[in-house]
Order: sequence, then C-alpha cells, then structure tokens
Amino acid sequence: MAKKRTTRKARVGFRQNRQVRRRSDEWTRQYRAEEEQLEDTELSESVRAKGALSRKRTILVDENDAPIVDELHWRRGRVTKVHGRVCFVNDDEHRAWECTVRRVLRTLLIESRAPVAVGDRVWFSMHPELSDGHPVGVIERVEERITRLSRRDRRKREHTIVANANQLLAVVSIAQPRLRPHLVDRYIVAALKGELHPVLCFNKIDLLREDLVTEDDDDRQTGLRVQDVIAEFRDLGYECLPTSAVTGEGIDELQAVLKDRVTVLAGQSGVGKSSLINLVQPGLNLVTRDVSEENEKGRHTTTLAELLPLDSGGYVVDTPGIRAFDLWSVEPGELEAYFVEFVPHIPNCHFGDCSHRREDGCAVIAAVEKGEITERRYYSYLKMFDEV
Ligand code: GDP
Ligand code: ZN
Repeated sequence: MAKKRTTRKARVGFRQNRQVRRRSDEWTRQYRAEEEQLEDTELSESVRAKGALSRKRTILVDENDAPIVDELHWRRGRVTKVHGRVCFVNDDEHRAWECTVRRVLRTLLIESRAPVAVGDRVWFSMHPELSDGHPVGVIERVEERITRLSRRDRRKREHTIVANANQLLAVVSIAQPRLRPHLVDRYIVAALKGELHPVLCFNKIDLLREDLVTEDDDDRQTGLRVQDVIAEFRDLGYECLPTSAVTGEGIDELQAVLKDRVTVLAGQSGVGKSSLINLVQPGLNLVTRDVSEENEKGRHTTTLAELLPLDSGGYVVDTPGIRAFDLWSVEPGELEAYFVEFVPHIPNCHFGDCSHRREDGCAVIAAVEKGEITERRYYSYLKMFDEV
C-alpha cells in the first residue's frame, strides 16, 4: 500500500529585498518568476537590514515540511561541497552543478536549524546560465537525512558536517607511526555515534614483524603485539583491512569496500591515507591540510567537508575537521553502548546507572576479571569516560 502523503501549505517569511518587487501572496511550486530565479542564483548576497522579515509566502510542503517534488522540472543530486551560499551538486551522471538554495526553502531550513550540508540528497531545478563552466541550478528540496555526522558548538547546538554517509574508514598504520589501539577504539565510538559502519584499515602492513608492538597515548611502547590487537578487533566483529600502499596488499579489498558508498575518511597524518586513496583512484585530491594549518584560517575551515566522487561509484569524504572531531558530543552515559562486548553484561550490573568504573556488583568488571572483556579495551573505556 502506498504511503499516504499529507500535503499542507506552509507560510514562510521572506526578507525584504532592497529592490522593489512584484507582490505575490500565493506562491506555489508553479511560481517561476524570472526575478525570483535571478535573485536566488545571485552568488554574493548583499547585506540586509536587520529585522527586515516582512513578506510571507505560501508553498506546498509534505509532512516533513519539504516542498513537494516536481519530477518534471527537477533533478536529483547530492551536495558535494558547500561554499557559503553556493552548493555544488552532483547529478546521477556525476555532472557538477553550481546551485543556490531557493530562498523559501532556505528560510524553512534555517527555521528547522538544518541548513544544506555536504552529503545531502537534494532536488534542484536547472537554470539556463553557466557559471565558471558549471551548469547552474537552484535547490528546491532536501531529502530527509539517513545519517548525520555532526559536532556541537559551545552552545551545544548541533552542526552537521556530513549527511548521509554510510561508513567511517579509520586508517591507522601499524608502524611509522606505531599503532595506538586506543585511537582505534575512539574511531569506533565516533563512527557508532555518527551512525556509521566502522571499517578499520591497518596500513603499512608490509612493515609487520612478529615482535612489533603497539604504543599508548604517551608514546610508550606497550607489550601488546600488533597482530594480537588486530585479531582482537576482528574477534569483536569489526571489519579489518590490512593494507599496504607499498606492496598493494589489500587494495582490491579497499576498492570493494569504498564502491557505491559514502565513506568518511579518518586517520592521523602520515598513516598513508593519500597513498591508499591514490591507488584506489589516481588523481583524487585529498584534503591534505593538517589541523594546525586549519586553525590559522579560523573556525570555519575546520568543518569544511567535501565529497570526492569515485569513478567506481560512491564518494570519499576527507576533512581535517572530521579527523579532529573524535569524541565531540558523546555523553558519558552513552559510551557503554559503543563498546560492543560490554553490552550483554550491562543488564547484569547491580546498579541501573552503573558506570562500570568501581561500583559494587558491576558485571562489566566481573567480565574483565573472567577474561571475557580484555583489559586493554576496559582501560580504553575508562580513559574515554574520563574525557567525555
Ligand atoms: P597521509 O598523511 O595519511 O595522507 O599519509 P601519506 O599517504 O602522505 O603517507 C605518509 C608516508 O607514509 C609517506 O612517506 C608514504 O610513502 C608512507 N606510506 C604510505 N603508505 C605506506 C605503506 O603501506 N607502507 C609503507 N612502508 N609506507 C607507506
Ligand atoms: Zn557495571
């Protein structure tokens, strides 16, 4: 049975333009006045007086407050880059369109605190004009987001960095720099928090030796062997890819993992992300800026994300902002849920609000003592708990 569509009219406030414009009280999706199109494709917005919200218009929206799709005139696409008011949108044939957001939609999105983000699936209308060689369009509708990778600002407001990503590829190296298992645990938590499927890529596998050990966060070598740590993540059920950009090991597998999905790339600099991606698709330009470089340019650049299209289908998202975000908005109480092997024990803790640190009757601690949870993972949890 087809889902019943509820349509209603929404009144949307408009900022008064400085130009005198024809007044239109009933604005429907058929409304296509030339001046509106031009205004919406205006790339540099002029400064407007405060409180100039003076016009109201009516549009048809569905139950999610999104404008009703006009399949005849609109195209489907995905936002790959957002630069101020300009959104770059790839259509289904991977053609790049330079779009602005229909003013009425922008107002709706601002009201619901969800401006267009990289990764958004959108509908846009075409504008018969070329800008910088790109075809130009106007975004008319944003589809509901399936996943949201976001960070919170100081006022605890959520900002979406990437919408609709499927997975997080956490790239670490097993040596040069040494493997830090705690960092891998953090990537897993970050992925799960963002509703992304974590994939763990252990790069520089060509450097693996029997006695190669891991390192803790204070640069101290631990007695844990790299092979055992990889095996531990495998046993927990995580998808693990040993790769080498030098020998080519694991590159076919990596290619298969990336195909047709939207993958967020995470990993410290020097672990081999660019080398790996270059083998998957030569010429793909990763964002190679470091976190330190970003800070000089101010806060905004830290969250700039870009979807890089893969010839084989799918996209890779690389952003220094994402590399740095790690534990942004995880609350202490929700951390336990992201440690997959803790989950079956949690209902057996004596206290309902057990934090599994030192409480009596803690089933997680009991499981560590019985060897059902590794000490390494347990200490990793404690460390993260103290941080969040
Ligand atoms: P990124 O900062 O994560 O993008 O790392 P790069 O791709 O720039 O690689 C950092 C350094 O590690 C470079 O000198 C690479 O040649 C080297 N490298 C990358 N992948 C591998 C690998 O699989 N094995 C070895 N031995 N070296 C690698
Ligand atoms: Zn407990």
